[in-house]
Amino acid sequence: MTQGNTLDNIRIVLVNTSHPGNIGAVARAMKNMCLSQLYLVAPRKFPHDEATWRAASAGDILDNAVVCETLDEAIADCQLVVGTSARERTVPWPLLDPRHCMQEAYKESVGGHRVALMFGREDRGLTNEELQRCNLHVHIPANPEYSSLNIAMAVQVMAYELRMLQVSGDLDANAMAEWDQPVADAEALERYLVHLEETLYDINFLRPEAPKKLMLRLRRLYQRTRLDEMEVNILRGILTSTQSWVRKVRESESGGGDEGR
Ligand code: SAH
Repeated sequence: MTQGNTLDNIRIVLVNTSHPGNIGAVARAMKNMCLSQLYLVAPRKFPHDEATWRAASAGDILDNAVVCETLDEAIADCQLVVGTSARERTVPWPLLDPRHCMQEAYKESVGGHRVALMFGREDRGLTNEELQRCNLHVHIPANPEYSSLNIAMAVQVMAYELRMLQVSGDLDANAMAEWDQPVADAEALERYLVHLEETLYDINFLRPEAPKKLMLRLRRLYQRTRLDEMEVNILRGILTSTQSWVRKVRESESGGGDEGR
């Protein structure tokens, strides 16, 4: 009997894991809690005997793991991206504890969205840039004097919360409020942010010598807003129009177009 269906849209993404034993232990933690989707971004050693050994009877999770070279590949089609954080960051992001965060993840998964839960390197966690790709951050409120858990233990905590939601079934009906458009995925949002940055340079709002914080703040704004696909299209349309106006103005300034030729 498989009970994993309401969790099938949730993937565990391990970024640049060093120890293959940890990958195996994550697979086991996942299977115990009915999670099945494992994505490995540039694992240092995989496949590996140690991973297989630590996975015990969860070898199928390892066999089906998707190995990616970049984080972009692993989260491109996800509509909700959650990053785990063992430390406080300088630029604050929406931060939840595992129970509340997994409620959000579970609701979205039941509602049909693909959700990524990202876990970082054993020695230094996730980089700021990786954390900035997230809509939400989750922190296990551990002992402040020693708050860094082993990665498989951290996965276990999240997976347990998800499993509790699954067995209770409380959130299964009407999990997500109705919305008329699909939420944009991570790839669409990235493309929009690249386009926005380009346009801000075109209109001289951004300058190469200016501090980089502006794009970070805009990124946080959009990650928080959860744009839908139509909204992204509208915003990109505005950017395209802005760029074509700027081009026209520049052309007319630099020689007055074709007039007089
Ligand atoms: N020294 C690293 C800790 C990495 S622990 C750092 O300071 O960031 C490896 C991974 O386990 C982390 O990247 C995170 O995904 C997870 N993890 C460990 N402790 C956690 C905690 N208290 N809350 C959330 N995730 C945690």
